[in-house]
Amino acid sequence: MAKRSIAKKTTTRRAKKAAKRQTTARVRSARPVPLSSVIFSGASPSPADVIAIPPTSTFNQGLSSADERTMLRLLDVPGAKSRDCTPVTGPIRRRIKSRVDVGPFNVSGLDIAVDSLKAAFDEASEQIPDVVALVKTAGMLCVRAKRTNPNSFSNHSWGTALDLFFGQGVIPQGSPKTYRGCLQLAPFLNRHGWYWGAGFSGRSVDSMHFELAKETIERAVRREA
Ligand SMILES: [Zn+2]
Repeated sequence: MAKRSIAKKTTTRRAKKAAKRQTTARVRSARPVPLSSVIFSGASPSPADVIAIPPTSTFNQGLSSADERTMLRLLDVPGAKSRDCTPVTGPIRRRIKSRVDVGPFNVSGLDIAVDSLKAAFDEASEQIPDVVALVKTAGMLCVRAKRTNPNSFSNHSWGTALDLFFGQGVIPQGSPKTYRGCLQLAPFLNRHGWYWGAGFSGRSVDSMHFELAKETIERAVRREA
């Protein structure tokens, strides 16, 4: 008796799966397939999928990474060029906002960065709430040197950079891969003046890293003057 009911359940499940497959096929053929789902060949796409970074011409348009010279000129020395996170001791100290809820999590960072992050996530939660619900942060403010160059400050030192990940862990710097969720969030962050680290070249490529672009910081400082 028990055996028969299990067999029946299996059959029903199979039939349901087949019906679902057909529906999915119909929906797929009705609209253009996005590039991200061509790269990923699995079943249902998830923000936690690891996929190849698309061509750099498809994001960061009109935005560039804020180099150390620009950062020092506009925001001064933030603290010590240490290996690990050290306290902010520079003049930006009074501009740091601590543990602010920006939607998916709390962050500490420079006032203009925290405010624009909140605006970007507000917009994203209206259009891609499933992605915003799963995004996690690996940190924002951290006064330290760059991992790839101990002579240069990381932009995290001014609290204008943010690291994001999905699933269980971060995608390390140097990997040409990204979480699909970071790719989905990139247009929102780009629109609010954030540069995506997936555009860095060679071993500097860093898909978990977003930073307030050079243009955005220059504009904000000009407005403050
Ligand atoms: Zn970073």
